[in-house]
Order: sequence, then structure tokens, then C-alpha cells
Amino acid sequence: MKKQIAILGSTGSIGTQALQVIEEHTDQYEAYVLTANNRVDDLIYQARKFKPEAVVIANEAKYTQLKEALADLPIKVYAGEEALCQIVTETPIDMVLTAMVGYAGLKPTMNAIRARKPIALANKETLVVAGELVNDLARFNRTPILPVDSEHSAVFQCLAGETGNPVEKIILTASGGPFRTCTMKQLATVTKAQALKHPNWDMGAKITIDSASMMNKGFEVIEAKWLFGVRSDQIEVVVHPQSVIHSMVQFEDGAIKAQLGMPDMRLPIQYAFSYPERLKASFPRLDFKLCTNLTFEQPDTTRFRNLALAYEALHRAGNMPCIVNAANEVVVAAFLRDEISFLGMSEVIEKTMSRVSFVQKPTYEDYVATDEEARKIAMEMVATNNR
Ligand code: NAD
Ligand code: MG
Repeated sequence: MKKQIAILGSTGSIGTQALQVIEEHTDQYEAYVLTANNRVDDLIYQARKFKPEAVVIANEAKYTQLKEALADLPIKVYAGEEALCQIVTETPIDMVLTAMVGYAGLKPTMNAIRARKPIALANKETLVVAGELVNDLARFNRTPILPVDSEHSAVFQCLAGETGNPVEKIILTASGGPFRTCTMKQLATVTKAQALKHPNWDMGAKITIDSASMMNKGFEVIEAKWLFGVRSDQIEVVVHPQSVIHSMVQFEDGAIKAQLGMPDMRLPIQYAFSYPERLKASFPRLDFKLCTNLTFEQPDTTRFRNLALAYEALHRAGNMPCIVNAANEVVVAAFLRDEISFLGMSEVIEKTMSRVSFVQKPTYEDYVATDEEARKIAMEMVATNNR
């Protein structure tokens, strides 16, 4: 029996690479559901090629176009957020890859967990916003959450075979992004075009900006806490510009294990699909003849304030990471519209953290309310030029 995979966000960077993995292993995997937000043409192309059982387009205005384009095929066509939340619960689905971007991933992921579908988690925002709640739900339903994020996949691979051996530290590597060597003065005027040029990875726009601002690494610290059950003081970030070491685990005896490879998301995607097995893959290999210089630096939280804000959110706990995520989604969208400066993004996030009502032990409804309130406050600040 082939594993039936639902891909939420199949038209994105992770989604399309997941389809490459499926294409390479047609004997093992089948795309059962493909979904997109807006890119209906891409979704039509994917549906005709991979012949899933169903497709969902989140933007309901694109439904008719999608339905008509697939009329000659026996593919069920749905639209809207509710359909997205429903489709993940379908009985034949064996795994849900959450490759959509942002807070919108939370609800369908929770629904998939309730339906006991193993999760291949790319949508880190789900764990940033509501890590404790999602973990509790997964434990209650005995549903595994397998990391797709390259750093967390690396940690997960280092932990294989180490059951019962306590972890002393998780060391997340960070490329440092395109502005790693910029001075504060330079950072004040960097543009969206510069921010969108990541040195090592080709990713969606939102995560590329998050990488440039190091909010991505901050989110990954939070993600690591919930995936691996460690304290925040056990998670360290080290800048490693070559992105060859994908992350490391230090054990109680001082031994450090690392996972290395080319920067290629298809490996962590495939590992989440095939775990605990490894499958043969045709991806390019790391060649040490070409990779002679691996370097490491300490992250600078003065220039990259977001990393400190994420750690602070993790310490303050409750709905604070949800506030940071919502404010971050607002400022990143504004930065992509040239409505806020690069450094202005951290200022708005920090002020939003101090203005939204704090909730120590949030329910799902509290998260929904927090997300709404934080967005409203951050949007007002962006509109009034950050006052
Ligand atoms: P992307 O922008 O390339 O793709 C996002 C996908 O989600 C698209 O298919 C889009 O149609 C869909 N989508 C967006 N908003 C939606 C909504 N409101 N409702 C339904 N669908 C929606 O993003 P990406 O780079 O592939 O990243 C996806 C997720 O994976 C993010 O959470 C990101 O942090 C994480 N991630 C990505 C990478 C990477 O290399 N790209 C690495 C690690 C983690
Ligand atoms: Mg990552």
C-alpha cells in the first residue's frame, strides 16, 4: 500500500519539493490531497500531473476556474478554509504535510491531529503560536509530529538511537542570512530586494524575510522547545554561514552529533515521509573537496533584535509567542509592500508584545483572540508609521 499524503500548500517552495520526493518514489507515496491559497494555475497543473483524490483552493473566488479546469478528471474540488480543515480528516490519508505559511496552518494542523494523522510539520508557525496546546493534542491522540524544518530534522536524525540518553543542549545552526555582516547603519536602509536574496536557500517570501531578520531562527528555537521537550536555556544558536551542518545535539557526556548535507529541503521532507527508514535519493551529495571551510560565529542580538524577542517570548510563555508571530506576519507583509523599514519591523513587534493582553494558559479561543488583537495593534502601528 502506498502512503497517501495530503500536502497543505502544495504550490509553495516546500510543497513543490515534496512533490519531487513523491515523484522520485512513486512506488511508496501518492499525493492524496493538494491545496493552495491563490495560485490556481499551479494547482491545476499539479492536479493533472499527480491525479490526487481531491484539491482545495483556499481562496473561494478561484473555485469555478479550478472546477472547470479539472472537469474531465475524477478529482473532487473544494474551496475555502473550512474545506481545508475538513479534507485533512479523510480516512485514506496516512500523513499530512503542513507546508502552508503562517498562522493559517494552525487550525487544519489541529484538525489533522484530532483525526490521528501523523504530521510532517513544515509550518513552524503552528508550534510557535500554540506549541503547548498542539503538543497536548498530539499526545492525547498519540499522533507523531515529524519535523521538516532542516534544523529540526537534523536534531531528530541525531537523536535516532539515543532513546533514554538525556540531551544537554540542542545547537541550531543559522546561516545568518544576507545581512550577516551588515552594520546597524546599513541595516537601516536595506531593501526588500536585498532581503529576498538568501545566500543558501530558495524559499517562500515570508520565511526568506524571516531569515534575513533572524526571526526565523527565533521561531526555530521555540519550535525546538516543543518538538524535543527541552528548556529554552538548552537551545543555543550558532551562526554557520555555509549551511552545511544543519544542526547538532550535545549529550550529557559532552559528545556532539551533527547532521550534514547540501542545503536541500528534499532530504528532510523525505525523511519525515520515510521515518524511521531512509530511502535512496538522487539529490546532490556534499563534496568535501569543494567544502573546505566550515566557520562559526556568535549571533548578534543587537543587530538582529528579533532573535532576542523570540527568546523573551519563550520565557514569558503563555500567548506571548502568538503575539510575536502575529505582529511578525503583519510587519513582514508590510515590509514586502515597502511600508516599513527593515529595523522598523522589530520595533513594531516589541511594542505589540507590550500592548496585547497577556494570557498565561491560553485556550484555542484565546489564541484566536490574541492573534486578532495583535494584528490589529501591529497594523495600526504600521499605518501610523510606528508610533
Ligand atoms: P511558500 O510561500 O513558498 O508556499 C506557501 C504555500 O501555502 C503555498 O502553496 C500557498 O498557496 C499556501 N498558502 C499560503 N497561505 C495560505 C492560506 N492562508 N491558506 C491556505 N494555503 C495557504 O512558503 P514555503 O517557503 O514553502 O514555506 C511553507 C512553510 O514551511 C512555512 O511555515 C515555512 O516557515 C516552512 N519552512 C519552509 C522552508 C523552505 O525551505 N521553504 C524551510 C523550513 C520551513
Ligand atoms: Mg529552518
